[in-house]
Amino acid sequence: MHYVVIGAGPAGVNAAEHLRKNDPSGEITLLAAEDAPPYSRMALPYFLVGNISAEGTYLRKDADHYSRLGINVRHARVSSVDTGAKSIQLLGGDSLAYDKLLVATGATAVKPPVPGIDLEGVYNCWSLADAHKIIDRAAPGSNVILMGAGFIGCIILEALAARKVNLTVIEMEDRMVSRMTNETMGNMIKSWCEDKGITVLTGTRVDSIEENGGALSVATNTSKTLPADLVICATGVRSNTAFLDKSNIKIDMGIVVDDFMQTSVADVYAAGDVAQGKDLSTGDYYVQAIQPTAVEHAKLAAWSMVHGHTSPTPGKLNMNVLDTVGLISTSFGLWMGTDGGEEAELVDTERYKYLNLQFKDDVLVGASSLGMTQHVGCMRGLIQTGARLGDWKDKLLEEPNRLPEAYLASAQAQNKTLER
Ligand SMILES: Cc1cc2nc3c(=O)[nH]c(=O)nc-3n(C[C@H](O)[C@H](O)[C@H](O)COP(=O)(O)OP(=O)(O)OC[C@H]3O[C@@H](n4cnc5c(N)ncnc54)[C@H](O)[C@@H]3O)c2cc1C
Repeated sequence: MHYVVIGAGPAGVNAAEHLRKNDPSGEITLLAAEDAPPYSRMALPYFLVGNISAEGTYLRKDADHYSRLGINVRHARVSSVDTGAKSIQLLGGDSLAYDKLLVATGATAVKPPVPGIDLEGVYNCWSLADAHKIIDRAAPGSNVILMGAGFIGCIILEALAARKVNLTVIEMEDRMVSRMTNETMGNMIKSWCEDKGITVLTGTRVDSIEENGGALSVATNTSKTLPADLVICATGVRSNTAFLDKSNIKIDMGIVVDDFMQTSVADVYAAGDVAQGKDLSTGDYYVQAIQPTAVEHAKLAAWSMVHGHTSPTPGKLNMNVLDTVGLISTSFGLWMGTDGGEEAELVDTERYKYLNLQFKDDVLVGASSLGMTQHVGCMRGLIQTGARLGDWKDKLLEEPNRLPEAYLASAQAQNKTLER
């Protein structure tokens, strides 16, 4: 049995390891497009800050790790897949036959169509190669413009602030991290950043970037023009599926998969940022683009590839935990609420504390928080298990801060049921 895994990010690496665990004797090939050993994008901010070296971003630190497991890592980019012939074409002309294939090619950061976006000094922050280029320009005191204050933008923001650059964030939406915050929470994050000396321009669009004698200038729709030594573009990503154009594999926003991570073509699976997998809260299929989901997808795909379709996923919980210059924000499940649901909110603007709970009947279906890390485990636990809260729902509507007590009560009730 020859298993081929395309892509050596967290999904690809975890899948290869779990294939080995589930099948001690099969042949495993892991195809890595980039020159570096398999690494974690999540670790790039720590590299930018200088807390770790480039080697510190590698997913597995032991140089013999893959060969010890009998995983053949091959540095090659896949150019197309022929699912009829069960064959993969590599850039440069080679081809490779597979019995079972996993596509774990992740996503690529995109740049918006703005004049000057391809100038030297305008970079994404998506790969180890990008991080090296950013470090070269982001010296203390330099003028840095960050386009985009979404989840990834805010993670990069934290690293740039630590490099002591003169930072301006430009965000088209009316608030920061709009995909995990309501207006109140987004505005609190903005004001926290401004308190830390970061300029945040929400509701603002970059119209063009120009270069003059090595210096960049960024023009916005508010007619403000800003000088820049470096512009970082964190305005969105696109799943890496172009090489599958002629493969017959069904693609929507990402690769469409079933509850076993199989694509529309037999013996071809997908996992991670490239896969449109099932969401626990809604039952819908979409690209979650977070690392915990990539790792869970990988484990399930490896299981299904070896043992068959015996263990369907109930779906993955969408969750985001973000550290924005020391302020921790979180969102879980249906944090934006649901039709016919009820909401509890606690707001303490001065102390940067915020908690929002969303209920459907007596079940917690979503939550978001700011500066309240003590509630994170309870929010996740209650949403993930879908535990019925009974009387505790009304208590939480009055006093959302009593969440840990509600969690404990629900865990005790579950234990009693198990004992019976
Ligand atoms: C700066 C930054 C910070 C982040 N922080 C967090 C965080 O705090 N929490 C969190 O949950 N998520 C975070 N993420 C997102 C997280 O990194 C991704 O969800 C995760 O990397 C997805 O893993 P993956 O294996 O699916 O894709 P990737 O990590 O993108 O790996 C895909 C691999 O496939 C390779 N590939 C692509 N095309 C081909 C091809 N044709 N042939 C061969 N190989 C190919 C790519 O080069 C890449 O190595 C962050 C991302 C970035 C950029």
